[in-house]
Amino acid sequence: KVHAAAEDRYERLAYRRAGKSGLDLPALSFGLWQKFGADYSYEVQREIVLHAFDLGISHFDNADRYGPPHRAAQQLFGRVLAKDLAPYRDELILSTKAGNPIGPSPYLRGGSRKSLLTSLEHSLRDLGTDYVDIFYSHRPDPTTPLEETVGALVSAVQQGKALYVGVSNYSPEQTRDAAELLRGAGVPLLVHQPRYSIFDRRPEQDGLLKLAAEDGFGLVVYSPLAQGLLTDKYLDGIPADARARNSQFLSPDVIDDTYRLRAAALNRIAEERGQSLAQLALQWVLRQPQVTSALIGASSTRQLDHNVRALDFPPLLPEELAMIDEHGVH
Ligand code: NDP
Repeated sequence: KVHAAAEDRYERLAYRRAGKSGLDLPALSFGLWQKFGADYSYEVQREIVLHAFDLGISHFDNADRYGPPHRAAQQLFGRVLAKDLAPYRDELILSTKAGNPIGPSPYLRGGSRKSLLTSLEHSLRDLGTDYVDIFYSHRPDPTTPLEETVGALVSAVQQGKALYVGVSNYSPEQTRDAAELLRGAGVPLLVHQPRYSIFDRRPEQDGLLKLAAEDGFGLVVYSPLAQGLLTDKYLDGIPADARARNSQFLSPDVIDDTYRLRAAALNRIAEERGQSLAQLALQWVLRQPQVTSALIGASSTRQLDHNVRALDFPPLLPEELAMIDEHGVH
């Protein structure tokens, strides 16, 4: 049966303006990095995607790489789009990324024009759409002139295959240079996608948050829950279905005594506020005005229902932030 989207889908979640652009993004966005490959059930994946949309999470983040195998997550999303979400395409912000290796060929990696534009073309076919809303350079490629990488992003927009462009994992210096080249070409940098969480403060330390404010781009921050470490799920061991048991990107070794002490302390701060650690962690990244959206994953609709309530709590007080700093810094 084709899905009919929830009537009240714009009443749950705040929308936030991406930098100095005209585009609003939902405070929570959904990424298909893990558990959206061919090794999990299509029905469950479809249910999670549709549930996210029903909650107001209209921004879905993807990449040619996501699977396994590579490209599988976009093909999955393409199926859901064709079957259920096609009537809502105008209400969706779809992003994809290129430039991370997806194969041994020199054209299936790196920041060349060839790599970026052929990947985008392939992603559009997999997603079953004529354009993506945001096209990212997935990571910097110091072996390719930045002019060439940026030129490929500009071409994507000029060819009507992307509405906006972004960069991910770029240093502040690389971002400043890319933003300047983009501005010169009349295609301003919409967003940067960095990792940011209570456990990873790099954007505060290296000047990226400051640059975003000055330069006028937004931040779509990934792994705000540190892949699940900033939730209560690992406080009493490692559940059988948890990412730390079945992902090459999160080793069970990180769940050691030091981690458990820190997570328990953060969990107590959250409990004092009447919320969960996951909700606290999301609120914590969203306290920064430069953070347009917190980009989360989920392996169940229950997690999504829980996480969208993160914005329903009073703002974090200075003394609470100080306590979080005490327990959350490596
Ligand atoms: P999160 O830090 O939000 O981790 C999400 C995972 O945490 C879920 O899949 C689930 O894992 C667990 N979780 C979520 N909510 C709860 C809850 N309420 N209670 C308990 N566990 C919970 O983000 P991700 O690391 O998944 O990254 C999000 C997106 O960011 C990716 O999908 C991708 O789009 C993007 N990204 C981009 C990168 C880049 O280089 N640009 C790199 C990495 C990510 P489980 O249940 O399986 O244990």
